[in-house]
Amino acid sequence: MNYIVMDLEWNMGRPREELKVMPFEIIEIGAVKLDDKLNEIGRFSHLVHPRVYRKLHWMNKKIVHLENSDLEDAEDFEMVYSEFSAFCGEEPFLFCTWGDTDLTEFQRNIYYFDCIPLAEGPVEFLDVQKLCGYNEGSPKERMSLEKAVDEYGIPENEGFHRAVNDAAYTAEILKRIDRKYEKYTSFNTYHPPKTKGEEIIKDYGRYKKHISRCFRDKHELLYDNTIRTLTCPICGQRIKKEIPLFSLNSKHYQMMGVCEKHGAVKAKIRIKKEEIQNLPYAVKTIRLINEEEKENLIIKYQKSISSKSE
Ligand SMILES: [Zn+2]
Repeated sequence: MNYIVMDLEWNMGRPREELKVMPFEIIEIGAVKLDDKLNEIGRFSHLVHPRVYRKLHWMNKKIVHLENSDLEDAEDFEMVYSEFSAFCGEEPFLFCTWGDTDLTEFQRNIYYFDCIPLAEGPVEFLDVQKLCGYNEGSPKERMSLEKAVDEYGIPENEGFHRAVNDAAYTAEILKRIDRKYEKYTSFNTYHPPKTKGEEIIKDYGRYKKHISRCFRDKHELLYDNTIRTLTCPICGQRIKKEIPLFSLNSKHYQMMGVCEKHGAVKAKIRIKKEEIQNLPYAVKTIRLINEEEKENLIIKYQKSISSKSE
């Protein structure tokens, strides 16, 4: 399998002209293609002629080091996107990006310009920024690309914030990350699964992730059997709930039970909104928890019922 390490530069509109479906218009696509041994086998670098936010916003100008005149002769998004698809090739590949925003903005542009979607459902990818945190033993940390390049001692021959340069730096970091972390893929859910059969259940070993299809409303989602059911992430055994599904706020729900073989299991449900039709879907993560986490969850649950009865 190949790796397409991608980076985008974009422009934004002034508040009055901003479109909700596409707050950022892509002005550059850069990518580095790596083979399964992480050797570079290709580079892609194209500017895009902006048609929605035609003038570079001063903030983007400062970041990207581009002028309006640089983009005048560039090709339209549709053209650059089709060249990019050809660059990605026929062989299977995995997208790699720094952080998780590029794939969302990319798909918003693809949708706005009515191009063929990247995928029908969620796009699995490697968030190199996240893996970098894992590799450094601080999984919650979100380092800037500049800082990571510095920490790994990668020579800074090219300027940052030009798409192909940032993609190349991201690729260099990926090469320095222990490959055992590559199994911790992420999913961009700009397009959630379309049917129950296409729902994603991914086993990461210590935890499991389930991405549901869209429901008509939140009520239907919360009463769905698969979403309400608690199973052990290790043995798959159905578990009786000790704490029923309760809400922390309107978007986050949790529940807990104990597997006889493996101990306490917590499920977290995040309700997200699909952008185009504005329908809810769920991202559920199920994992084992220790005694301390179990106690904390019980306290949270008790608080949530007492606040409701007040
Ligand atoms: Zn179990």
